[in-house]
Amino acid sequence: VRSYHFENESDTDFVLRTNRKWAEEIRDKWQNIGESGGFNAYPVIGGEILQRDESVQKIDKSQYHENKTVGSYVEATPEDMKKAISVAKDDPDGWRELSAQQRQEALMDVAHEIRVARADLIGIAAAEVGKVFTETDVEVSEAIDFLNFYPYSVAKISGLTGVETSGKGVGLVVSPWNFPVAIPAGGVAASLAAGNTVILKPAKDAILSAYRLCQCFWEAGISKNTLQFVPAAGSHVGEHMIPSKDIDFTIFTGGEKTAYEIIKSRPDIHISAETGGKDATIVTALADRDQAIKNVVISAFHNSGQKCSATSLLVLEKELYEDDNFKQTLKEAVESLKTGSVWDFSNRIGTLSNLPSGELKKALSYLDKGEEWLVKPGYADKGNPYMLTPSVRWGTKRDDFCHMNELFGPVLSVMCAEDLDDAIDIVNATGYGLTSGIETLDKREQDYWREKIIAGNLYINRGTTGAIVIRQPFGGMRKSAIGSGKKAGGFNYVSQFMNIDYHETNL
Ligand code: GLU
Repeated sequence: VRSYHFENESDTDFVLRTNRKWAEEIRDKWQNIGESGGFNAYPVIGGEILQRDESVQKIDKSQYHENKTVGSYVEATPEDMKKAISVAKDDPDGWRELSAQQRQEALMDVAHEIRVARADLIGIAAAEVGKVFTETDVEVSEAIDFLNFYPYSVAKISGLTGVETSGKGVGLVVSPWNFPVAIPAGGVAASLAAGNTVILKPAKDAILSAYRLCQCFWEAGISKNTLQFVPAAGSHVGEHMIPSKDIDFTIFTGGEKTAYEIIKSRPDIHISAETGGKDATIVTALADRDQAIKNVVISAFHNSGQKCSATSLLVLEKELYEDDNFKQTLKEAVESLKTGSVWDFSNRIGTLSNLPSGELKKALSYLDKGEEWLVKPGYADKGNPYMLTPSVRWGTKRDDFCHMNELFGPVLSVMCAEDLDDAIDIVNATGYGLTSGIETLDKREQDYWREKIIAGNLYINRGTTGAIVIRQPFGGMRKSAIGSGKKAGGFNYVSQFMNIDYHETNL
């Protein structure tokens, strides 16, 4: 008998010897996958896997593995995209006709397949986007949570409203490379749970991870008409899919500019867009200082800071800013993080997905007046430009480049605040509002901060990354949430994709 009670999935404990052996097996299988033909992805449209010989794109990740190919994918054509939309609209296998409970059963089976595929997903993300094992491991748990949680929340909403809800029709999920497993899993799970057919278009840099994820859906019995897979360049999808009148909603995670373009091309439908952040952690003089450093270092640098939720501003109350001991401990903590190949398990920081460009490139190459490097940026592994080591700018001032701009890389900027009010003001001035943290043991400071700070996810004495389904529904405000978004991993997230308007945040 199945339990419909929701529980979060556990992560792997890599301290256990058996799990370390398991990690070695993953490495053996995936580190040199190119030598045995690689892992290959194809468009999956209208029930078929399109294993064509034309438009095969090799996936070369020589930045992580010398001169090695990881696999390939077949690029979907504009005709494929048209067909995917028309199949999704027709729903030949009748997914939309199923009851919420039948959909829940099917998605719980998918959760189980993802559990079985944990090793592959970890190996592929390492090979494809240079993500360290422990970071993908928590993503896999989150993906399983989404599969179990979204149908559960549909059931709750139906129970509360007394209505058997229906979906809006066809969903399009456009997912990013920085969370190559959890984010596509969440978008697809929510679309399906709410009673829609769905098309997944993953980021170009993370096609293989998304394909392996989709295999879990298909193996669990979700048909290849119900979930279709379209690997293609963003510009083609922008031209041939996004504007289609037969798409009823889009779930997008990525840059602000693209989010605005998507909304502009379909102002008439629901777009759930999770965009950037300029997230800060404030540390007051009443913090547990060692704990604060630990939380900040993890939030700023894990996954090379390539998370929308990453702390990229550290705002210190003056007393702490002037405390040499604190400064020195922070410096040493950052310098102790080993950067390099994901196949060497002693490295905590893996590789950048792409070479630094835009804001990150700029931030690495100059300092504003009064700023200095507390920890200078560098490159591990004999200067490999993808292996950027964590760095800390000290003395960033209001309105400086690094106060106001998202960098999406392993660079932390430290600012000084006169008091808590000043600190809150500095943080709110960024115009973003995704995550925010405070480190203080004083309850009055915590309450005051909670009232004044503008951000979707508030964390007290805890890092700003790694939101857990149901416990910390994830989503922002202002520039961080363009369009009408409800929080991922929260009870009413699914209602955006159903013919029901359900506003309650917590049931
Ligand atoms: N949900 C993730 C977290 O809490 C961040 C997702 C993102 O970067 O888009 O860390």
